[in-house]
Amino acid sequence: MDDVSDGSRGAIETQLFSAEEIAATIERLAAAIAADYRGKPLVILGVLKGALFITIDLARAIARREDGPSELLMDFLCVSSYGNRSRSSGEVRLLKDTSLLIAGRHVLLVEDIVDNGLTLDYLRRLLAARGPASLRACVLLDKPYRRMVDVPVEYRGLHCPDAFVVGYGLDYQEGFRNLPYLATLRPTVITD
Ligand code: 5GP
Repeated sequence: MDDVSDGSRGAIETQLFSAEEIAATIERLAAAIAADYRGKPLVILGVLKGALFITIDLARAIARREDGPSELLMDFLCVSSYGNRSRSSGEVRLLKDTSLLIAGRHVLLVEDIVDNGLTLDYLRRLLAARGPASLRACVLLDKPYRRMVDVPVEYRGLHCPDAFVVGYGLDYQEGFRNLPYLATLRPTVITD
């Protein structure tokens, strides 16, 4: 059951955050975001693939609040900096852009994790150049140990230890995204 390819739970070393802790964090972030954008239209842009679950859960939590944004538009961007490895290549590539026009709109970028900061910095610059009314970032996990750019994060979820984490949308070689919790992998599983 240690085979990486089947996303096996036997490969998990430590559970860092339970599904309940993640859900409570999303509710906290949604409350803050709903209050800040109360009565305003908001565009939520999730970053594929890692932020798939958090983006949808966050948008639903915001939508459940009656005093939140007046309108919620959603789309996804896709970037790649890790390929299939557990370390960043340092080069961010845009694989899919948003089809939404964001000039003059309030935009919230939603990322799974910020590590060296290059991905979020790249996306902030890309979107800022299009003239949004405002641009903020919401990140579920903050891993501050290898930060290379001091990129702003307006909404922060959880402090992440200095380890490669998987689950709740985050993958290793495309596996483990389906785990309902966030966890570290056993070192023998990480082969790069
Ligand atoms: P950064 O550019 O800030 O180093 O990294 C951002 C991206 O790297 C994230 O969106 C995520 O895709 C990936 N990443 C960074 N740390 C981790 C990690 O611990 N686990 C996983 N699965 N992906 C990570």
